This record gives sequence, C-alpha cells and structure tokens, in this order.
Amino acid sequence: MPRAKKAPVFCVFCEIAAGRIPSHKVWENREFVAFLDIRPVRPGHLLLVPKKHYESVFVLPGALYARTFLAARALASRMERHFRVPRVGLVVEGFGVPHAHVHLVPISREGQLNPSLAKESSPVALRRTRAGLGRALAGKA
Ligand SMILES: [Zn+2]
Repeated sequence: MPRAKKAPVFCVFCEIAAGRIPSHKVWENREFVAFLDIRPVRPGHLLLVPKKHYESVFVLPGALYARTFLAARALASRMERHFRVPRVGLVVEGFGVPHAHVHLVPISREGQLNPSLAKESSPVALRRTRAGLGRALAGKA
C-alpha cells in the first residue's frame, strides 16, 4: 500500500480528530479538537490539536499557527474561570506524539508543569472533569 508522503501510517491524534478512536473530548471547531490528556500533570490538563496532520507546531502554516494560539488563549481563559486558578500554563513539547499539539494545564504555582508529574488518571475522574469542563468550554473559541 502506498505510504502518505508526510503523515505516518497511524497517528493517534489524527484518529482522535476523526473520531475513529475515543477520547475525552472537551471542545472542537472546524479545524481543532481539544481533549483531556489521559496522563495529566494536573487535573484538567488538555491537549489542543489541529485536525489536519502536521508533525509539530513549528511547521504549521502561519495562519494556522496563529489560530492555534488564539484558540489556546480562548480556552485558557475559560479554563482559568472553570478551575478557579490564576494561570493556565501552555507547553509545546512534542516528544510524545508527532502531531502538532499544545498542552494547556491549570496551575496555581510554579513547578506544576513538570512532565514528570504526569500520572494515569482514572476513567471516572476523566469523565467527571470532561463533563464540567466541556460545559465551561462550550461555544466558539
Ligand atoms: Zn496526525
């Protein structure tokens, strides 16, 4: 079978974006989807992902790059209100999955963005977070 030039044969974020594998999706629009990280560093840690496959944030076309961070800003301000935290940290790391994504993490003090704090969340906790956050993020970003 011929291989796509840039997209890998299987990309978990492409599958999530297309709805072919389940996720704890909390928000989406035409070109982005946001879902909970199943290994959050803090409760409410989400991933904002363009639906189209690009290997990393820094290869996004300029306009899409700009819209990524505008969407991140809109989601972050709603997350701050929802989680009653002074900040939502934004991390671009990209080691885990080679599909452009940004991490948005509700934080209340320094040091809480450390990836070594990531741990598997229970499905019950993820469903509870998703229900509340999904309502808080509903609408246009
Ligand atoms: Zn992908």
